[in-house]
Amino acid sequence: MGRLQSKSAVITAAGHGIGRASARLFARGGASVWALDIDQSALQSLAAEVPGIRPFVLDVTDAAAIRAFADQAGEVDILFNCAGFVHEGTILQCEESDWDRSFDINVRSMYRMIRALLPGMIARRRGSIVNMSSLASSVKGVPNRFVYGATKAAVIGLSKALAVDVIAQGIRVNAICPATVDSPSLRGRIQSAADPVAARAAFEARQPMGRIGTPDEIANLALYLASDESSYTTGGVHVIDGGWMA
Ligand code: NAD
Repeated sequence: MGRLQSKSAVITAAGHGIGRASARLFARGGASVWALDIDQSALQSLAAEVPGIRPFVLDVTDAAAIRAFADQAGEVDILFNCAGFVHEGTILQCEESDWDRSFDINVRSMYRMIRALLPGMIARRRGSIVNMSSLASSVKGVPNRFVYGATKAAVIGLSKALAVDVIAQGIRVNAICPATVDSPSLRGRIQSAADPVAARAAFEARQPMGRIGTPDEIANLALYLASDESSYTTGGVHVIDGGWMA
């Protein structure tokens, strides 16, 4: 029997990268998966690849769309808030619009998704919420990730505050903090560098294992936190970083 048998899961940013790997893994673990993303063609290819996945085009910055989704989603046991956006730069390169956009996609999206789906979890007295933070957060300062680091630190605060509020209702909340993971957005950042070969080498060099992580390696941690195997774990900050903090 799969580790998520008979559970219903919602994953944001499921079209690419870590979210997509998680949707695949959760579905293979037996969950009924709602895969949410703004990229319709990515969702279609995911649904074609993994039968049973329910694709749903949803922008995590659209509060009304989130409420409408929650109304039709039915019972949800697992919410993996994976959507996030990397603004590159220091405070001096971060305009107010960059600040607002980063907090909207990375933090406020979680507030919206959780507000929409938590009441159902409370009513059934069970649920697991997994929030995507990053090593670049309150865990570690990373160069040129000023507002990104601020948002991902906020995700940790949000997760801990929520965890204590819902602990008596049988709901667990955990944050995941990956270091560098191979994904379309990482590849985009590498390609847009002045010297892409040097940029990739620099990303690899800062990982003590000498390599970047894979989306599946992060998805396996999300699967564990989503499943009942992690039933004694809540309010946790789960670093998965190829030894960067060792
Ligand atoms: P990615 O950035 O390559 O893909 C992001 C996905 O999010 C895409 O499918 C995109 O269509 C979708 N998306 C973008 N805006 C959206 C919106 N408003 N609503 C819904 N979906 C939207 O994926 P990734 O690099 O695996 O990142 C996933 C998460 O992991 C992010 O929160 C990111 O900050 C975090 N993270 C990534 C790394 C890394 O190195 N890749 C490291 C630490 C944390």
